[in-house]
Amino acid sequence: MKGVLVILGGIGDLPSDQLKGKTPLEAAEKPAIDFLAKNGEIGYMYPIKENISTESDTATLSLLGNDPRISLRGQLEALGAGIGAIRGDLALRTNFATIDNLEKGNVTDRRAGRTLTTSDAEILAKSINKQVKLPCKFFFKPTIQHRGILILKGGFSDNVSNTDPSYGEKGKFKPSDKLRFCQALDEKENTEYTANIVNMFISQSFQVLDKHPVNEQRRKKGMLPANILLTRDAGVEIPKLKQMKKWAGIVYMPLEIGIAKAAGMDVLDFEYPAFKDYDVYKNLHAGLEKAAKFAKKMLKKKCRKYDYFYIHFKETDVPGHDNKPHEKVKMIEELDKLFFSYLSKLAIKHKAKVVVTGDHSTPCKMKSHSGDPVPILVCDWHANQEIKFSEKEARKGRLGKIYGRELLDKIGFSR
Ligand code: ZN
Repeated sequence: MKGVLVILGGIGDLPSDQLKGKTPLEAAEKPAIDFLAKNGEIGYMYPIKENISTESDTATLSLLGNDPRISLRGQLEALGAGIGAIRGDLALRTNFATIDNLEKGNVTDRRAGRTLTTSDAEILAKSINKQVKLPCKFFFKPTIQHRGILILKGGFSDNVSNTDPSYGEKGKFKPSDKLRFCQALDEKENTEYTANIVNMFISQSFQVLDKHPVNEQRRKKGMLPANILLTRDAGVEIPKLKQMKKWAGIVYMPLEIGIAKAAGMDVLDFEYPAFKDYDVYKNLHAGLEKAAKFAKKMLKKKCRKYDYFYIHFKETDVPGHDNKPHEKVKMIEELDKLFFSYLSKLAIKHKAKVVVTGDHSTPCKMKSHSGDPVPILVCDWHANQEIKFSEKEARKGRLGKIYGRELLDKIGFSR
């Protein structure tokens, strides 16, 4: 083992009133992460460019040395979820969401309150696959929580717009909270046809979902119904990524699994715990704990087999969206205890370089991703300085400013 790259989802933040003016990284007790910072250099990174707010997929592709514009997330997620989509099949990332009705189209929650349990998602999916009738074969699969993949079989075009209102398409739309039906982004007949099929799917699945007993139950419990599927990131082929043959990816969400596979890494993944509880944070902490323990176990077992590891923890992004800085602090502390304390010992033994950073910032007070840089630490066991890992200190760090796409070269990790 020569190097480990750890990406913490949405880790970058801004000072929070709830934390008396500190950021979650500053407020967290994280002796192992700070130990790594002390034995290395820190700096700050723009995943794409200055002040560009980014999603996890484009940022991760960039951090692994790819042109971020190539993201065709639908196909990457399908690959990660183990769904066979061949070239020409249209793969779309979907979210179970809440809408008032199709006429008004007000999307009240893009993730149905993030309270959808795994078993309910599976029941809803079964009804959709059975009752929606399209002129082509299709397959809908829920993955984790509100997330899912829709595959339309056949020779489709991926030049169609997102129906998820938070996502623009090629600069054409501004984020809003209204459902936008799918539009063709060129005048080809096949593109128009593709958009029509996507819209048929959305309308019919609303009819199935809105009156579904699962949603009747959710309404009775005072929860938001998961009554619409929002689509985005249409893709008809798996993008060609820079190959990383010496690497293993310890990842667990479909998108990151797909990216690791498409980059030629061996993928070490585990069954993510089912979301059984309506308490969002209970589920998230359970997922994070399992992920941290699994990553530790895999490093222990496989550290002699691979030169480099790419590890991506996702949960730390969520509290930023909810403005819950205390939850973010708790997650950082959990990771420190369950994962980084082991990683630092293992890395000393192997004299391996450890890099810790984020895919983007998700400042709690903004409740969304932002263009703020993410702090980065590169521990190579040569330095010994009194520093802690935080956004503020990173700005003064010796590493200075770096851009996502040059990351692997800067830190000297080969492919
Ligand atoms: Zn996010």
